[in-house]
Amino acid sequence: MAQNVKTPLGEEEVLTPEKFNFRRGEIERRISENFDDLVCRRCGAKAVTETVAHPIWDGPFPMSGGGSCHYEGIPYCPNCDERPSSHGSPIAPKGSFHNP
Ligand SMILES: [Zn+2]
Repeated sequence: MAQNVKTPLGEEEVLTPEKFNFRRGEIERRISENFDDLVCRRCGAKAVTETVAHPIWDGPFPMSGGGSCHYEGIPYCPNCDERPSSHGSPIAPKGSFHNP
């Protein structure tokens, strides 16, 4: 169960680990389509990697967690792609408030 939650920073989509893995698979498919050994197939530039931090909401209360983050590197082309936001969606492990 994933849901949207209103936070002081705006609305966040809370990801289950399954949904996060699904998204990661989509990102990796796009990377393999757009890059050849991290060189952009469209313009030939070298990919730049943005580190995206996903807060882990593993606590028993809304938006609560131990403060850890899951970091993922997302390569993108500085010419063809928009820079990904370094602020990733929170991930709620099974058994936490948002993923009971
Ligand atoms: Zn490019």
